Amino acid sequence: MAIKGVITKRLYVKFTRCRRSARYEANQPEAAKLSLTVIQRKEETRELARLAAALFPGGEVVGSRADDFAVLNALSDRTKELLSRGTTVYDGVLLTRNFSCVFDVAVPSDDGVNFYVVKCATAPSENYIRELAYLAHVAKGCDIKVCKLSLIVTDPHYTLGKQIKESALLRKIDLTKRVARYADKVAKNCEELASFVQKNDMPPAELCANCERQFGCEYFNACFGKWLDKPSLFTLHGVDSATRYRLFAEGKVSMDDLRENAHLLKPRTAALIKLYGENAVKVDQKDLKKFLSGLWYPLCFLDFESLQSALPRYRGTRPLESVPFQYSLHIVQKEGEAPVHTGYLAKEGEDAREIIAKRLAEEIPQNACILAFGKFLECKVLGQLAQMFPDVRAKLSAARNNVRDIGAVFANDTVYYGQSLGSRSLKTIYRCVDPDGAHGYEVGAVHNGADAMATYLLLPYMSEKEKEERRNALWEYCKLDTLSMITILEDIKKRV
Ligand code: SF4
Repeated sequence: MAIKGVITKRLYVKFTRCRRSARYEANQPEAAKLSLTVIQRKEETRELARLAAALFPGGEVVGSRADDFAVLNALSDRTKELLSRGTTVYDGVLLTRNFSCVFDVAVPSDDGVNFYVVKCATAPSENYIRELAYLAHVAKGCDIKVCKLSLIVTDPHYTLGKQIKESALLRKIDLTKRVARYADKVAKNCEELASFVQKNDMPPAELCANCERQFGCEYFNACFGKWLDKPSLFTLHGVDSATRYRLFAEGKVSMDDLRENAHLLKPRTAALIKLYGENAVKVDQKDLKKFLSGLWYPLCFLDFESLQSALPRYRGTRPLESVPFQYSLHIVQKEGEAPVHTGYLAKEGEDAREIIAKRLAEEIPQNACILAFGKFLECKVLGQLAQMFPDVRAKLSAARNNVRDIGAVFANDTVYYGQSLGSRSLKTIYRCVDPDGAHGYEVGAVHNGADAMATYLLLPYMSEKEKEERRNALWEYCKLDTLSMITILEDIKKRV
């Protein structure tokens, strides 16, 4: 919890990116809407920081969480005292005036203190370098001589064996020289920030790259929420970033505004607005017939959920490798027959690859046609599982060859629904075909693939009741993905 009047590393970084986000952070932090992905990455970073401590044995944990100034001050004093005695500190905090900065490891040496910050990443970014520059500034304010400033990230080439080998998994990257270039800038920013926090004015919302960068700004809903649940500039696809930012700045956001200013858009995007207004569905009969004639029965609808974690969790996997933990499969044996559903959701922490491989080899009927939406992940996972498990290799390889992509029908504009406003996602297409059914994507805690992955990885941090609710949400979400493909196929069949 932020302490009123205290400037943190987080507030500093926000200030350098968007003054409005810094104002929210300082005065209205409750307006933040953190995505499940961001929450999960924070937990993963904590896990990595615990592993990083093993690289520097013999230190002491100070702790950096404080909800009042006195506690924060005491933690900072303890950090300084240990460092001055030559003791390594884990999870420490420094405070000078009202500027505070946390770090993961600090190792004193004859030449000064070496600071390390752990990140859930495989490479440094400019943002991380800014954070280190702020840490150097705060350390200087505390009269600490900084020797080195480094990031600790995971090595993407590391492969997990029987157990984690910290020295092989974690990579220290010395960024001292790159950080030094920011020194003057940090001092100036900190001066401005000190007077900024004294005020209350809220700068206007300006749509720009900072709003959308990486996982998006957590104040996006607070800034633009009124536009997000209706067709607008925010839901229209095919507008390049620069045009979008300009249109927003000029107040051209609603569908009426966009219709009136269609001449400012590319002809293709302007056409999307026209098709939206007419509620039109465009069909390329030749291509659609070709696609449908390439399907056969038994017909399966398959969807995987997979996790990508900076911290490899299963033997033989690398950081950020895609590992399946769930699938949903609907099987229609003959045309006109009702689909039968099956699937699997891994238990918490379970390496389910073998179970998934064996179940799929048994459940997918021989020579079945398999439909996936954007078949890349499904083909990749089936191929990986086939490689890993020789007993089912032939069956899974055959299944992989029989995957057809229903998403291509929309990616290639073979069928175009005017209401989609250019989006080709499964959820949007389903919403165009069955608005009531698509409401299922809104309920529950899992709304997209990123939510599914984060939810699965967050299970160990939940209460038993919450776990049960979230596992049910995962099951229903994945099932809805394959059900929606069935509904979409029925709809496009009627259009030939
Ligand atoms: S959404 Fe954009 S304008 Fe709003 S606070 Fe975040 S970065 Fe600033």
